[in-house]
Amino acid sequence: MVPCSACPGLKPAMQTESDILILGGGCAGLSLALRLAANGSNCPSTIILESRSHYSNDRTWCFWDDGSAHLRELVQHRWPMVTLAHGEHRISVDCHTIPYAMIPAENFYAHASVTLAETARVTLAMNEPVIGEPRKEGGLWRVETRCGSRWAKRLIDARPQRMPERGAAVLWQSFYGHEIHCDADCFDPGVARLMDFSPSKNRRIAFLYMLPISPRRALVEVTVLAPDPLGPEDLAEELAAFIRQQVGESSHAVLRAEHGVLPMGQAAFDRGADVSHVRVGVAAGGARAASGFAFQRIQRWANACATELIAGQPPLLHPSDPWITRAMDALFLRVLRAHPKRAPELFLALFAIQDPRRIIRFMSDHAVMADYAAIILALPPWLFLGEIPQALWPRPSLRKGDLGK
Ligand SMILES: Cc1cc2nc3c(=O)[nH]c(=O)nc-3n(C[C@H](O)[C@H](O)[C@H](O)COP(=O)(O)OP(=O)(O)OC[C@H]3O[C@@H](n4cnc5c(N)ncnc54)[C@H](O)[C@@H]3O)c2cc1C
Repeated sequence: MVPCSACPGLKPAMQTESDILILGGGCAGLSLALRLAANGSNCPSTIILESRSHYSNDRTWCFWDDGSAHLRELVQHRWPMVTLAHGEHRISVDCHTIPYAMIPAENFYAHASVTLAETARVTLAMNEPVIGEPRKEGGLWRVETRCGSRWAKRLIDARPQRMPERGAAVLWQSFYGHEIHCDADCFDPGVARLMDFSPSKNRRIAFLYMLPISPRRALVEVTVLAPDPLGPEDLAEELAAFIRQQVGESSHAVLRAEHGVLPMGQAAFDRGADVSHVRVGVAAGGARAASGFAFQRIQRWANACATELIAGQPPLLHPSDPWITRAMDALFLRVLRAHPKRAPELFLALFAIQDPRRIIRFMSDHAVMADYAAIILALPPWLFLGEIPQALWPRPSLRKGDLGK
């Protein structure tokens, strides 16, 4: 054994072998590890390599909780009512039967860290970034980290795969938010404000997203859908204005910040030639095209993938959505991109459907045929007709990942 170059004199460089290596201990990597660990002594030996030295409360995961959602026990807050607004036009959606629910990342990371620490067959190796790309040697995958070489029969790569860039998604959903605490009551914790639209500028669709957790505490976020991904610096001014609007004269403290850039409508992800290696996570097809939401989809994938691995089968990619969902998402995104000024009207029309459970099921991947029909009837047909050919039959160059620069 040679000494580890990152910690000379402390420990020899590692040469470990396991059944499974998971690269990246974020949402997808930890979710899969939790499902594997739940199988006790049947669990294949598994190592998760995570670059961070510790977890922080870096995000919140929201979804509609119809009672069948995964990890419901980690939910911190549920909203029985959501609103959407554009100027004077505001609609309130009573969703108490399928509330909008939120898991703070710190709850999930703590649950995963504690559970995995109690599991002999799974090791969570923190502060161990993967260097470069894995290579197959002698029937095993070899992965280099700053502590040495790790070897495994199967590899699940859950690292972010690509830098967000114009053309790699139809639209990018960029958001920047502050969780704030006010010195006076400013919020209604019974109502989540899903989309409070600002006037469209520079072909961007911008809205306020606000999750009040108590009368004095809320996550206030500015979200922009646009062909270009945006950083926190691009959104900071708008966020400050939104917060001022919400809290008025009362002073407030910023408890934490969160920022994200999610793809909306990416090219399909293919399995590589070797079935023992998959790329997964939000940047590898894990997110729903029309919303960017991924948390519950990742949980469902983790369940299915763990079942395959326990049975000795190769790991699974994220499954593709049914044809009708893909077609409707692609068409909707094309229309949003071509007509950003019409976005508020379209989103409000969708949530104004007589039975709001239809749009909630559609967004949660549980739509039935009648839901698809109600959604199509709620939208202005002439706006969509012109985009149908490009959405359903994109030019070959677009299929390869150039989604319209
Ligand atoms: C701020 C924010 C809020 C979101 N809110 C929602 C929401 O409300 N609802 C929803 O459904 N989805 C939401 N999402 C989308 C999605 O659910 C999350 O992005 C989710 O965390 C994606 O999981 P992942 O495993 O693909 O990526 P991540 O959770 O980001 O995990 C990737 C991991 O890989 C690690 N890594 C990177 N490089 C290396 C390396 N070289 N070696 C080892 N490890 C490495 C990272 O440290 C990280 O832990 C949100 C995303 C963000 C960013």
